[in-house]
Amino acid sequence: MKKVYLDNASTTAIRAEVIQEMTKVMAEDFGNPSSTHSFGRNAKSVLELSRKSIAKQLNATAQEIIFTSCGTEANNWILRSAVVDLKVKRIITSKTEHHAVLYTVQALQKEFGIQVDYVAVKPNGDIDITDLVELLRQDHKTLVSLMHVNNETGTVLDIKRIGVICAEHNVLFHCDTVQSIGKIELDVQAFPIDFLVASAHKFHGPKGVGFAFVRKNSGLQPLFYGGEQEKGLRAGTEAVHQIAGMAKALELSYANLDTERIHISELKKYLIEQLEIEFPGYAINGNQDGFYNILNVLLPLSADKTAMILFHLDMKGIAVSRGSACQSGSIRASHVLAEMLSREDLKKPSLRISFSHYNSKEDIDLLIEGLKNI
Ligand code: PLP
Repeated sequence: MKKVYLDNASTTAIRAEVIQEMTKVMAEDFGNPSSTHSFGRNAKSVLELSRKSIAKQLNATAQEIIFTSCGTEANNWILRSAVVDLKVKRIITSKTEHHAVLYTVQALQKEFGIQVDYVAVKPNGDIDITDLVELLRQDHKTLVSLMHVNNETGTVLDIKRIGVICAEHNVLFHCDTVQSIGKIELDVQAFPIDFLVASAHKFHGPKGVGFAFVRKNSGLQPLFYGGEQEKGLRAGTEAVHQIAGMAKALELSYANLDTERIHISELKKYLIEQLEIEFPGYAINGNQDGFYNILNVLLPLSADKTAMILFHLDMKGIAVSRGSACQSGSIRASHVLAEMLSREDLKKPSLRISFSHYNSKEDIDLLIEGLKNI
């Protein structure tokens, strides 16, 4: 049975070259980067070359890249330190953010009594920028936290515009770019932004490693304390092989961006065409011009078929997801779709299909066949 993986917003397959790079580093550069002997110096050199390479892809400086264990950690660190150390009194975010942001903001609200405002979300998932500007009229020390590409619907935020609006209002801007880094060009010099977050396993790198872009002189303080790693901002011996793998993965993602983006966009278009033919009552959840590797669709299937849809596809070796990436298989309604759909539509099956360059038209045909046979 051919297996079909269409859950790339959840995680991606590691590129062969990345595994090769990581294997080499594990075998040859196992020293502790904090050691002063040659083994340590070798590992340190791998670490710093990786940092430079990542910085170059985003047009940042190496010192603005801080390695973390994942996107969740980077989001937690930035938001918490913004409140504790930068004395932010108010966070503006949206109810369609990933839980790594939403739950962190809620915890900070409880712990520190900060004001939290949720910017309005339009029925197509877009952030209502007029509402954001309205919210920014209040004069508090504020941080805006809005994601670039929504992990469930693929809705894209115009982060340049938001960055400019934030700068005009003299507020901090944090953007969860976990779904977009490596899949779209990002130049941190081209517009004002204070903090970005990335996770290697979303761009064909290893799990358990990510990074934050933290604009120079931001004043952020550590999330936890210990050694002097990452200039004291993130104590703990660095996972050198993971970091080297992440740098390699990002480099390859950007080197192949144009061809892979064209291939994936064609697959998405093909899937939409097939859905129009085979499931004429289907609807796209979110903006019709959503990100090229994510399609969230509401299918015109009966209630009894709805419950078992993922199970049936899984039996056929087809992996897609319902709701959020991190809740695949969960029966709870998606908090993102809950902001956008009617109660009736929320009961109907919505599937998130997310592609990578490893997918083919045959995968789409198998998915459509699988759906038809439920
Ligand atoms: N932010 C977004 C938008 C995500 O999609 C995810 C993972 O699904 C995360 C944050 C969490 O990233 P990590 O798995 O690296 O903790």
